[in-house]
This record gives sequence, structure tokens and C-alpha cells, in this order.
Amino acid sequence: DQDYVRLYKILLIGNSSVGKSSILFVLLTKFSLKGRIKSIKLSPTIGVDFKTIHFESTSLQIWDTAGQERFKNITTSYYKGAHGIILVYDITDRQSFKDIQTWLAEVDKYGSENVVKLLVGNKSDLENERKVKLEEGETLGNALDIRFLETSAKGDTNVSGTFHILLNEIKEKMRNLPEASKRQSKASQLPTLKKERLLKTQSVADDKLQQLFIYGAFQLVISFLTLILTMFDGFNSICFDNI
Ligand code: GDP
Repeated sequence: DQDYVRLYKILLIGNSSVGKSSILFVLLTKFSLKGRIKSIKLSPTIGVDFKTIHFESTSLQIWDTAGQERFKNITTSYYKGAHGIILVYDITDRQSFKDIQTWLAEVDKYGSENVVKLLVGNKSDLENERKVKLEEGETLGNALDIRFLETSAKGDTNVSGTFHILLNEIKEKMRNLPEASKRQSKASQLPTLKKERLLKTQSVADDKLQQLFIYGAFQLVISFLTLILTMFDGFNSICFDNI
């Protein structure tokens, strides 16, 4: 019962250029080096993609906005069924820190009420360019009652720690949820899983269609050659008949 849900959907959100993709990339590289990536899947939808990583005996399906935040184009389906949300700002960009409030409003509007949130101030390696103090991040985290960490995707500081903390908090929350909510959380993953299965079926169907096409083309060539040979035969017989 402890790990009732084995697949967790995690979102990375925040302004453009704060380092969301870099954080995910560091995590992927680290895990691929250790050979712990179970599978990396790209969803066919342009704009949003997710990657599945095997992490601490569970699977994390991590979604990245892939730049869509620039166009304010993040849809409700992105938030649907998320177990954890990492809100990222850039410590060298004050606006990205201010905009955390806007992102939080989105999360409250579209995310599930049981979603675990985590606040991350990225680019901690750029101390000289710092515009947001460490204490400011801590104060905001305390005010919102969510954990706060500073990370550096460039220096690989606290990246896996962030996911480790988030996963522990999610597991803790799941343990304390009533059964009905757990079932609901599990059910919320179904559309994604179904979609994956659908894609698989689709690609099998595509392969069959391709085989059929090759077979058809082959048949056409054979028929054409037979026709030529028959005509050639007829032509010969006409010639010989004339002789
Ligand atoms: P996203 O738009 O939020 O996904 O941001 P990206 O991951 O594309 O990063 C934007 C820029 O910030 C890129 O040039 C990254 O190389 C850089 N960047 C990301 N994380 C860090 C970091 O921790 N430290 C430094 N110095 N640069 C970073």
C-alpha cells in the first residue's frame, strides 16, 4: 500500500529561460550514466513533452513545457493528474521570482488539490549576478508552506536532491490520503497510459499498411512484366507467322 501509485507525474513550471529543460537534462544525463533510465518517451504533441525515468523503485513521468510558457499556451491537460509540481525561478532574474505567484495561481486553478509543490531557485552558481537573496526564497517557501531549494543545473547542485525531496513528499502524502483519493490519483494517469497504448497500436497498424503497400507494388511489377512478356510472345508469333 505504501507505493500505491508507482508512476508519478511531475511538472516543471516557471518563466522561460529559468533552466527547466536544463534541470531535466541534468537529471536524465545523470541517470543514463548510471543506467537507471527505464525509458524516455516523447509525446507526439508539439510543445509539451514528457520523459519517464526510473527513480527510487518508482517511475517519474516528468513533463517539461518545452517553451510553451512563452505563449501562455499551457493547457489544463498539462496539470491534469500531476502528483508533483516544481516551480522554478532564476536567482539572477527578479521577474521570474515575482512571476512565481502567477504560476501558483495557475497551479491552484488547474492542479489537483493534493498536488505536492516545491519551490526552486535555479542558477545558484551565478552568485555575482544574484538578484534574489536566498532568504527571499526561504521566506516565500515558508509563507506558502512548501519546501524550498536553490539549485544549479550547470554545477549539478541539488538537482537529484530536488526530485528526491519531492518524491518523498508525494509518497508521504499518498500514504496519508483516504483510499478514494488514492484511487482517483491512480485513475488520473489512465488517459496517458491509454494514449501510449494507442500510439503503439497505431504504429503496428502503420507497419501492416506499409507491408501491404510493398506487397501491392510487387504484384503490380510482376503483372507488368507478365504483360510485356505476353506482348513480346505475341509479337514474335506474328513475325514468325509472316515468315
Ligand atoms: P527553460 O526555458 O526554463 O527550459 O530554460 P533552459 O533550460 O533552456 O535554460 C535557459 C538558459 O539558462 C540556457 O542558456 C542554460 O544553459 C542556462 N542555464 C540553465 N540552468 C543554469 C544554471 O544552473 N546555471 C547557469 N549559469 N546557467 C543555466
